[in-house]
Amino acid sequence: MSRELATGAAWMNGSIMPISEASIPVNDWGLIHSDITYDVVPVWRGAFFRLDHYLERFFRSMETLKLDPGLGPEEIAGVLGELVAATGLRDAYVAMVTSRGVNMVPGSRDPRDCRNHFFAWCVPYIHVIRPEIAEHGAHVRVAKSVRRIPPASVDPRVKNYQWGDFTQGLFEAKSVGAETTLLLDTEGNLTEGPGFNVFLVKDGALVTPDLGILEGISRQTVLDIAAELGLAVDIRPVPLDELMLADEVFITTSGGGVAPITRVDDRVFSNGAPGEVTMRLKDAYFSWAERPEHRTEIRYLNI
Ligand SMILES: *Cc1c(COP(=O)(O)O)cnc(C)c1O
Repeated sequence: MSRELATGAAWMNGSIMPISEASIPVNDWGLIHSDITYDVVPVWRGAFFRLDHYLERFFRSMETLKLDPGLGPEEIAGVLGELVAATGLRDAYVAMVTSRGVNMVPGSRDPRDCRNHFFAWCVPYIHVIRPEIAEHGAHVRVAKSVRRIPPASVDPRVKNYQWGDFTQGLFEAKSVGAETTLLLDTEGNLTEGPGFNVFLVKDGALVTPDLGILEGISRQTVLDIAAELGLAVDIRPVPLDELMLADEVFITTSGGGVAPITRVDDRVFSNGAPGEVTMRLKDAYFSWAERPEHRTEIRYLNI
Protein backbone atom coordinates (compact mmCIF):
# COMPACT_ATOMS: atom_id res chain seq x y z
CA MET A 1 0.00 0.00 0.00
CA SER A 2 1.10 3.52 -0.66
CA ARG A 3 0.69 6.27 1.92
CA GLU A 4 0.53 8.79 -0.90
CA LEU A 5 -2.53 7.05 -2.35
CA ALA A 6 -4.31 6.34 0.94
CA THR A 7 -6.22 9.63 0.90
CA GLY A 8 -7.47 9.02 -2.63
CA ALA A 9 -6.34 7.59 -5.93
CA ALA A 10 -7.49 7.56 -9.53
CA TRP A 11 -7.11 5.25 -12.51
CA MET A 12 -6.72 7.30 -15.70
CA ASN A 13 -5.83 5.72 -19.07
CA GLY A 14 -4.20 2.72 -17.45
CA SER A 15 -2.21 4.50 -14.73
CA ILE A 16 -2.88 4.81 -11.02
CA MET A 17 -2.09 8.20 -9.51
CA PRO A 18 -2.89 10.37 -6.45
CA ILE A 19 -6.40 11.77 -6.90
CA SER A 20 -5.03 15.33 -6.87
CA GLU A 21 -3.18 14.57 -10.11
CA ALA A 22 -6.22 13.19 -11.98
CA SER A 23 -7.99 15.56 -14.35
CA ILE A 24 -10.16 15.67 -17.47
CA PRO A 25 -9.89 18.15 -20.37
CA VAL A 26 -11.86 21.41 -20.14
CA ASN A 27 -13.71 20.53 -23.35
CA ASP A 28 -14.79 17.04 -22.25
CA TRP A 29 -18.55 16.74 -22.90
CA GLY A 30 -18.94 15.24 -19.44
CA LEU A 31 -17.99 18.65 -18.10
CA ILE A 32 -19.56 21.00 -20.64
CA HIS A 33 -22.81 19.04 -21.22
CA SER A 34 -23.10 16.74 -18.15
CA ASP A 35 -22.86 14.01 -20.77
CA ILE A 36 -21.54 11.38 -18.40
CA THR A 37 -22.63 8.54 -16.18
CA TYR A 38 -21.10 6.98 -13.11
CA ASP A 39 -21.59 4.46 -10.37
CA VAL A 40 -20.27 4.07 -6.84
CA VAL A 41 -19.59 0.75 -5.16
CA PRO A 42 -18.67 0.52 -1.48
CA VAL A 43 -15.72 -1.41 -0.14
CA TRP A 44 -16.42 -2.68 3.35
CA ARG A 45 -13.78 -4.38 5.49
CA GLY A 46 -11.63 -5.31 2.55
CA ALA A 47 -14.22 -6.41 -0.02
CA PHE A 48 -16.58 -4.90 -2.56
CA PHE A 49 -20.19 -5.31 -1.45
CA ARG A 50 -22.49 -6.69 -4.20
CA LEU A 51 -20.09 -5.60 -6.95
CA ASP A 52 -22.06 -7.45 -9.67
CA HIS A 53 -25.15 -5.34 -8.96
CA TYR A 54 -23.20 -2.09 -9.33
CA LEU A 55 -21.45 -3.18 -12.53
CA GLU A 56 -24.75 -4.31 -14.02
CA ARG A 57 -26.35 -0.93 -13.28
CA PHE A 58 -23.29 0.94 -14.62
CA PHE A 59 -23.42 -1.00 -17.90
CA ARG A 60 -27.19 -0.43 -18.17
CA SER A 61 -26.64 3.32 -17.67
CA MET A 62 -23.94 3.41 -20.37
CA GLU A 63 -26.16 1.50 -22.77
CA THR A 64 -29.01 3.99 -22.23
CA LEU A 65 -26.69 6.93 -22.93
CA LYS A 66 -24.87 5.18 -25.82
CA LEU A 67 -21.53 5.37 -24.03
CA ASP A 68 -18.75 2.85 -24.56
CA PRO A 69 -16.14 2.47 -21.77
CA GLY A 70 -13.89 0.38 -24.03
CA LEU A 71 -13.68 -2.27 -21.29
CA GLY A 72 -15.95 -5.13 -20.28
CA PRO A 73 -17.43 -5.68 -16.80
CA GLU A 74 -14.67 -8.08 -15.75
CA GLU A 75 -11.97 -5.70 -16.91
CA ILE A 76 -13.59 -2.85 -14.99
CA ALA A 77 -13.85 -5.07 -11.91
CA GLY A 78 -10.12 -5.72 -12.34
CA VAL A 79 -9.33 -2.01 -12.61
CA LEU A 80 -11.35 -1.22 -9.49
CA GLY A 81 -9.71 -4.02 -7.51
CA GLU A 82 -6.24 -2.90 -8.58
CA LEU A 83 -7.07 0.70 -7.67
CA VAL A 84 -8.36 -0.10 -4.18
CA ALA A 85 -5.44 -2.47 -3.53
CA ALA A 86 -3.02 0.32 -4.43
CA THR A 87 -4.54 2.60 -1.78
CA GLY A 88 -4.60 -0.06 0.93
CA LEU A 89 -8.04 1.23 1.98
CA ARG A 90 -10.22 -1.33 3.80
CA ASP A 91 -13.34 0.83 3.71
CA ALA A 92 -13.71 2.90 0.56
CA TYR A 93 -15.99 4.83 -1.78
CA VAL A 94 -15.14 3.68 -5.29
CA ALA A 95 -16.40 5.63 -8.31
CA MET A 96 -16.40 4.42 -11.91
CA VAL A 97 -17.16 7.01 -14.57
CA THR A 98 -17.69 7.09 -18.33
CA SER A 99 -17.74 10.47 -19.98
CA ARG A 100 -18.69 11.29 -23.57
CA GLY A 101 -15.17 12.70 -23.77
CA VAL A 102 -13.61 15.18 -26.15
CA ASN A 103 -15.02 15.70 -29.66
CA MET A 104 -12.26 14.63 -32.04
CA VAL A 105 -13.65 16.51 -35.08
CA PRO A 106 -13.00 20.28 -34.93
CA GLY A 107 -16.30 22.20 -34.81
CA SER A 108 -18.44 19.06 -34.65
CA ARG A 109 -21.61 19.07 -32.54
CA ASP A 110 -22.19 15.36 -33.16
CA PRO A 111 -21.91 13.21 -30.01
CA ARG A 112 -20.76 10.30 -32.17
CA ASP A 113 -17.54 12.18 -32.88
CA CYS A 114 -16.51 12.11 -29.21
CA ARG A 115 -13.93 9.71 -27.84
CA ASN A 116 -15.62 8.17 -24.76
CA HIS A 117 -13.47 8.13 -21.68
CA PHE A 118 -13.65 5.67 -18.78
CA PHE A 119 -11.89 6.44 -15.51
CA ALA A 120 -12.17 5.49 -11.85
CA TRP A 121 -11.27 6.95 -8.49
CA CYS A 122 -11.56 6.04 -4.86
CA VAL A 123 -11.39 7.74 -1.48
CA PRO A 124 -11.89 6.59 2.13
CA TYR A 125 -15.50 5.50 2.80
CA ILE A 126 -17.99 8.39 2.73
CA HIS A 127 -21.05 8.64 4.95
CA VAL A 128 -23.76 10.71 3.23
CA ILE A 129 -25.04 11.44 6.76
CA ARG A 130 -22.10 11.76 9.14
CA PRO A 131 -22.10 8.91 11.72
CA GLU A 132 -22.35 11.28 14.71
CA ILE A 133 -25.55 12.73 13.18
CA ALA A 134 -26.92 9.39 11.93
CA GLU A 135 -26.54 7.96 15.43
CA HIS A 136 -29.29 10.28 16.69
CA GLY A 137 -31.19 10.60 13.40
CA ALA A 138 -30.94 13.35 10.82
CA HIS A 139 -33.13 16.37 10.08
CA VAL A 140 -34.22 16.57 6.45
CA ARG A 141 -35.92 19.41 4.61
CA VAL A 142 -38.39 18.80 1.80
CA ALA A 143 -37.37 21.29 -0.89
CA LYS A 144 -39.98 23.99 -1.46
CA SER A 145 -38.18 26.00 -4.13
CA VAL A 146 -37.47 23.17 -6.56
CA ARG A 147 -38.96 19.89 -7.81
CA ARG A 148 -37.05 16.86 -9.14
CA ILE A 149 -36.43 17.09 -12.89
CA PRO A 150 -39.10 14.94 -14.63
CA PRO A 151 -38.12 11.41 -15.73
CA ALA A 152 -39.28 12.32 -19.24
CA SER A 153 -36.43 14.86 -19.37
CA VAL A 154 -33.61 13.10 -17.51
CA ASP A 155 -33.90 9.36 -16.85
CA PRO A 156 -33.34 9.06 -13.08
CA ARG A 157 -32.43 5.37 -13.44
CA VAL A 158 -29.16 6.46 -15.02
CA LYS A 159 -26.83 7.66 -12.27
CA ASN A 160 -25.93 11.17 -13.35
CA TYR A 161 -24.21 14.45 -12.48
CA GLN A 162 -27.21 16.68 -13.26
CA TRP A 163 -27.52 17.87 -9.70
CA GLY A 164 -29.01 21.35 -10.31
CA ASP A 165 -32.22 20.45 -8.46
CA PHE A 166 -30.46 18.63 -5.60
CA THR A 167 -27.95 21.45 -5.08
CA GLN A 168 -30.73 24.05 -4.85
CA GLY A 169 -32.48 21.76 -2.34
CA LEU A 170 -29.26 21.43 -0.33
CA PHE A 171 -28.88 25.21 -0.06
CA GLU A 172 -32.46 25.42 1.17
CA ALA A 173 -31.86 22.61 3.70
CA LYS A 174 -28.65 24.14 5.04
CA SER A 175 -30.35 27.55 5.42
CA VAL A 176 -32.75 26.04 8.00
CA GLY A 177 -30.14 23.86 9.71
CA ALA A 178 -31.26 20.61 8.08
CA GLU A 179 -28.70 17.99 7.12
CA THR A 180 -29.97 17.27 3.63
CA THR A 181 -32.87 17.57 1.21
CA LEU A 182 -35.68 15.42 -0.18
CA LEU A 183 -37.24 16.32 -3.51
CA LEU A 184 -40.85 15.88 -4.66
CA ASP A 185 -41.86 15.23 -8.24
CA THR A 186 -44.15 17.60 -10.15
CA GLU A 187 -47.21 15.72 -8.75
CA GLY A 188 -46.08 16.19 -5.13
CA ASN A 189 -44.94 12.60 -4.61
CA LEU A 190 -41.65 11.74 -2.92
CA THR A 191 -38.67 10.97 -5.11
CA GLU A 192 -35.20 10.88 -3.50
CA GLY A 193 -32.34 13.01 -2.23
CA PRO A 194 -28.76 13.74 -3.34
CA GLY A 195 -27.32 10.22 -3.40
CA PHE A 196 -29.98 8.34 -1.45
CA ASN A 197 -33.41 6.70 -1.60
CA VAL A 198 -36.11 7.15 1.03
CA PHE A 199 -38.33 4.70 2.92
CA LEU A 200 -41.05 5.11 5.48
CA VAL A 201 -42.24 2.56 8.02
CA LYS A 202 -45.94 2.40 8.85
CA ASP A 203 -47.42 -0.28 11.13
CA GLY A 204 -44.28 -2.39 10.64
CA ALA A 205 -44.41 -2.32 6.80
CA LEU A 206 -41.92 -0.57 4.50
CA VAL A 207 -43.10 1.87 1.83
CA THR A 208 -40.84 3.38 -0.84
CA PRO A 209 -41.39 5.23 -4.14
CA ASP A 210 -41.49 3.19 -7.34
CA LEU A 211 -40.76 5.75 -10.07
CA GLY A 212 -38.78 8.92 -10.62
CA ILE A 213 -35.78 7.54 -8.74
CA LEU A 214 -32.44 5.88 -9.17
CA GLU A 215 -33.00 2.26 -8.22
CA GLY A 216 -30.40 2.20 -5.46
CA ILE A 217 -28.47 -0.98 -4.77
CA SER A 218 -28.78 -0.20 -1.04
CA ARG A 219 -32.54 0.22 -1.58
CA GLN A 220 -32.55 -3.24 -3.20
CA THR A 221 -30.48 -4.64 -0.32
CA VAL A 222 -33.04 -3.32 2.16
CA LEU A 223 -35.85 -4.85 0.09
CA ASP A 224 -33.97 -8.18 0.09
CA ILE A 225 -33.38 -7.95 3.86
CA ALA A 226 -37.08 -7.16 4.38
CA ALA A 227 -38.00 -10.31 2.44
CA GLU A 228 -35.66 -12.35 4.63
CA LEU A 229 -37.06 -10.81 7.83
CA GLY A 230 -40.64 -11.24 6.62
CA LEU A 231 -41.42 -7.51 6.63
CA ALA A 232 -44.19 -6.31 4.31
CA VAL A 233 -43.10 -3.98 1.50
CA ASP A 234 -45.14 -1.60 -0.63
CA ILE A 235 -43.45 -0.01 -3.68
CA ARG A 236 -45.63 2.71 -5.19
CA PRO A 237 -46.09 6.49 -5.43
CA VAL A 238 -45.79 8.07 -1.97
CA PRO A 239 -47.50 11.44 -1.39
CA LEU A 240 -45.74 13.81 1.03
CA ASP A 241 -48.71 13.64 3.45
CA GLU A 242 -48.15 9.94 3.85
CA LEU A 243 -44.50 10.46 4.76
CA MET A 244 -45.58 12.90 7.45
CA LEU A 245 -47.88 10.25 9.00
CA ALA A 246 -45.18 7.56 9.07
CA ASP A 247 -43.93 5.85 12.23
CA GLU A 248 -40.30 5.93 11.06
CA VAL A 249 -38.34 7.36 8.14
CA PHE A 250 -34.91 6.31 6.87
CA ILE A 251 -32.71 6.69 3.82
CA THR A 252 -30.56 4.15 1.98
CA THR A 253 -27.24 4.81 0.24
CA SER A 254 -23.94 3.13 -0.54
CA GLY A 255 -22.48 5.95 1.56
CA GLY A 256 -23.55 4.63 4.95
CA GLY A 257 -26.14 1.92 4.28
CA VAL A 258 -29.29 2.74 6.26
CA ALA A 259 -29.50 6.10 8.04
CA PRO A 260 -32.38 7.13 10.32
CA ILE A 261 -34.29 10.37 9.72
CA THR A 262 -35.89 11.68 12.89
CA ARG A 263 -37.20 14.99 11.57
CA VAL A 264 -38.74 16.10 8.26
CA ASP A 265 -39.46 19.84 8.23
CA ASP A 266 -41.24 20.40 11.58
CA ARG A 267 -42.46 16.85 12.03
CA VAL A 268 -40.49 14.72 14.51
CA PHE A 269 -40.63 10.92 14.17
CA SER A 270 -40.41 8.20 16.84
CA ASN A 271 -39.92 10.78 19.62
CA GLY A 272 -36.80 12.11 17.95
CA ALA A 273 -34.82 8.86 18.20
CA PRO A 274 -33.98 6.34 15.46
CA GLY A 275 -36.85 3.88 15.05
CA GLU A 276 -36.72 0.22 15.95
CA VAL A 277 -37.34 -1.16 12.44
CA THR A 278 -34.79 1.27 11.02
CA MET A 279 -32.13 0.11 13.46
CA ARG A 280 -32.83 -3.55 12.69
CA LEU A 281 -32.35 -2.85 8.98
CA LYS A 282 -29.22 -0.80 9.60
CA ASP A 283 -27.60 -3.64 11.55
CA ALA A 284 -28.73 -6.17 8.95
CA TYR A 285 -27.21 -4.06 6.13
CA PHE A 286 -23.73 -4.24 7.65
CA SER A 287 -24.07 -7.90 8.53
CA TRP A 288 -25.04 -8.57 4.89
CA ALA A 289 -21.83 -6.78 3.87
CA GLU A 290 -19.93 -9.48 5.82
CA ARG A 291 -21.61 -12.40 4.03
CA PRO A 292 -19.15 -14.17 1.70
CA GLU A 293 -21.71 -14.47 -1.14
CA HIS A 294 -21.98 -10.65 -1.35
CA ARG A 295 -18.25 -10.00 -1.11
CA THR A 296 -15.57 -9.64 -3.76
CA GLU A 297 -12.36 -9.64 -1.74
CA ILE A 298 -9.68 -7.11 -2.62
CA ARG A 299 -6.27 -8.66 -3.21
CA TYR A 300 -4.12 -6.23 -1.25
CA LEU A 301 -0.42 -6.16 -1.98
CA ASN A 302 1.22 -7.31 1.21
CA ILE A 303 4.21 -5.34 2.31
C1 LIG B 1 -26.44 6.84 -5.92
C2 LIG B 1 -27.81 7.40 -5.73
C3 LIG B 1 -28.76 6.78 -4.89
C4 LIG B 1 -28.44 5.60 -4.01
O1 LIG B 1 -28.05 4.47 -4.74
P1 LIG B 1 -27.14 3.33 -4.06
O2 LIG B 1 -26.92 2.38 -5.17
O3 LIG B 1 -27.94 2.75 -2.96
O4 LIG B 1 -25.91 4.01 -3.56
C5 LIG B 1 -30.05 7.30 -4.88
N1 LIG B 1 -30.37 8.39 -5.60
C6 LIG B 1 -29.48 9.03 -6.38
C7 LIG B 1 -29.90 10.23 -7.14
C8 LIG B 1 -28.17 8.56 -6.46
O5 LIG B 1 -27.28 9.21 -7.23
